[in-house]
Amino acid sequence: MRGSARLDKYAQAVDQRLKMPFWLEQFVSRGGNLEISNVDIIGLERLAGSHDLVILAGGKGDIVTLFERDASHSPYDKPQRALALTYVNGMLPTPEYSRVSFNLIPGVGEYFVFPALTLNGPCDIMVFEGLPGGAMDGLSGARTPQEHLAYSQQILKTFLPWEAERCKQIELTDENGILTGRFAPMVRKPVLTLPSGRQIFGLGDAVVTNDPLTGQGSNNATKACKVYYEAILAHGDKPFTAEWMNDTFERFWDYGRYVVEWTNSLLAPPKPHILHLLGSAQHSPTLANTIANAFNYPPVLFPWWEDSLICDAYIHSQMTEEIRV
Ligand SMILES: Cc1cc2nc3c(=O)[nH]c(=O)nc-3n(C[C@H](O)[C@H](O)[C@H](O)COP(=O)(O)OP(=O)(O)OC[C@H]3O[C@@H](n4cnc5c(N)ncnc54)[C@H](O)[C@@H]3O)c2cc1C
Repeated sequence: MRGSARLDKYAQAVDQRLKMPFWLEQFVSRGGNLEISNVDIIGLERLAGSHDLVILAGGKGDIVTLFERDASHSPYDKPQRALALTYVNGMLPTPEYSRVSFNLIPGVGEYFVFPALTLNGPCDIMVFEGLPGGAMDGLSGARTPQEHLAYSQQILKTFLPWEAERCKQIELTDENGILTGRFAPMVRKPVLTLPSGRQIFGLGDAVVTNDPLTGQGSNNATKACKVYYEAILAHGDKPFTAEWMNDTFERFWDYGRYVVEWTNSLLAPPKPHILHLLGSAQHSPTLANTIANAFNYPPVLFPWWEDSLICDAYIHSQMTEEIRV
């Protein structure tokens, strides 16, 4: 199966090594007090004692395990993919327009690649999502960045020759332009009560960690930020209670739940109605457009993504409409 569709809005991918230092500078230049240090429970207690509200956005750091796992929204307790990134220069562009090229290799994993901006200018980011123990789960064994690059190319030659064609002249953007790792996707309860009884509010990956398969992590964290920010402004001078934190998280969860459900569904073998949907999208620009643009706003995929009957009816209605037009 093969298909493509353009995004309605422009997309951009900026290396966090570029973006974050800029934001930190902005924060300070606007009067923010920036302190860089490792925070533990004692540090959290200190901050909670001196501030009206403490938000912990510790990503995948150990400290976030203080938030309780929410089993009702966390179907996996083990990593579902062996992850690897390779940042490269010299990749041939895709024809017509730049895009995220997403490849599914049944029983092996997924590979996607997209143009981005890194330390030395434009680049392409290759993302490997290997099934643990499978044929794509070897990048963590690379001993040097060059071995990592060679193994990345080897995977493409073996499984995705059309992608390998684009990569004959690639080189790493820099020696740090590689990454490997694995983690279990997880939702955590957003309020942490410290030994003193004070509360801490979780944000971003600290409370909702998605597999990178759908590229939603930073987007999700940013969208949560907006919800939290608006809730803080609307709250005025009142105290930031656990109830306020839970209500604010629920407001974000009205959106975030779809990101989590969609991403988790793609980690399992595709259900027949999803294969039917993807197959139909090859012949239906409307369906292809909806799926491509869902990366910007996953709730549009529901309820039909998770329900075979509604999905079949949706496919039928979209294709019938196209024939009529
Ligand atoms: C392989 C891979 C590919 C990805 N691709 C994409 C993509 O294409 N698109 C996308 O949107 N997202 C992607 N993501 C996800 C994205 O990187 C994360 O979702 C995003 O960075 C989460 O933001 P955050 O602010 O919650 O956490 P982070 O960006 O992880 O920031 C957390 C910060 O907290 C710090 N910290 C941790 N513990 C402590 C402590 N005790 N004291 C002080 N500081 C601490 C860390 O050092 C870090 O700086 C990808 C992730 C991976 C692993």
